[in-house]
Amino acid sequence: MSIDCRHDVAGLELAELELGLEALGQPRFHARQIFQWVHKRGVTDFSEMSDLARDLRAALALQFRIGTPDVARQERSSDGTTKFLLRLEDGQLIESVFIPDTPANTFCLSTQVGCAMRCGFCLTGRMGIVRNLTAGEIAGQARVLARELHMLGSRFNIVLMGMGEPLHNYDATMKALRILADEHGFGLSPRRMTLSTVGVLPALERLATEPLMPNLAISLHATTEDQRDMLVPVNRKYGLKDLLDACRRFPIKRRDRITFEYVLLKDVNDTPEDARRLVKLLSGIRAKVNLLPLNEAAGIPFERPSDERVNRFAKVLADARVTVSVRKSRGRDIRAACGQLITESTREKSPGQVLANLMSV
Ligand code: SAH
Repeated sequence: MSIDCRHDVAGLELAELELGLEALGQPRFHARQIFQWVHKRGVTDFSEMSDLARDLRAALALQFRIGTPDVARQERSSDGTTKFLLRLEDGQLIESVFIPDTPANTFCLSTQVGCAMRCGFCLTGRMGIVRNLTAGEIAGQARVLARELHMLGSRFNIVLMGMGEPLHNYDATMKALRILADEHGFGLSPRRMTLSTVGVLPALERLATEPLMPNLAISLHATTEDQRDMLVPVNRKYGLKDLLDACRRFPIKRRDRITFEYVLLKDVNDTPEDARRLVKLLSGIRAKVNLLPLNEAAGIPFERPSDERVNRFAKVLADARVTVSVRKSRGRDIRAACGQLITESTREKSPGQVLANLMSV
């Protein structure tokens, strides 16, 4: 595979692109036009930028490329959820998912190829980490999905709940959010963005100081240190108590709340006692809880609880006046649901791999 050394304009913020034009001896204002062509109109070739002089287009193509993931495959679920398998420039594969009407149209984006967090119930974790995505690759997923779904120019939300841990790829993730927020591109309001994290504490503290603040979702999943050590191994480094203290300090705006995700695993963390502990843990935090009954998958050593057990858990929270919702699984028939994102190449070599990973959990 040949390596393209030209700079990727899709991964540049507008101010950086302006500097790039200056370095080419060109006026800065062209940066805005280029940014619009790439992010608003989904153009992938400088030759299509018809309001730029021919010479400039040629000069740009010598210095820059417009890195764009290729659609390797698309699968549409009976509920309209569509999973995209995207091939990156170095051949690595990632998945992104379009979830319609939840109530907004939502793009679920990946931040890494694979994931280092190895949560015990998540298939992506089984892959281990392959590499971080660049800002251009993270924002590029929204660009490609919008183009494929004929949604360029229409509104959507993004959730960073695909493959990877966003706070383990902090700089690229935040840069991608700034690119998506730029009014000359998608102009996506931070209110339409949700960053979901296991709680990598130093990065969470840093997020608290950002000018661009997405909604925050914390993958909690357990109510004691021991239980969380087992399910979310990063807890051994950044424990539950410290995580909740960081959430208490987190600067959320007046009417906003932190979402706590809680995957329900039969007979592991789904008892009324767990629910009561969760209520206690969240006291003093403006929180809402999103329950995720496990999406089962081969190689995942846990089971999904019955609806009755899920409802009983939810009722304990609701009775204690904690706002609670149960996530409806979308796209399960195409393995596009939470925790089911894993690329085929990894699926194929999975039996031995899964066994090795199971033994290391
Ligand atoms: N790394 C981020 C984003 C991951 S995916 C994070 O952990 O938050 C988004 C959510 O799906 C997380 O809460 C994750 O724990 C959850 N999830 C993972 N596997 C799942 C499964 N098999 N069933 C249900 N939810 C799952």
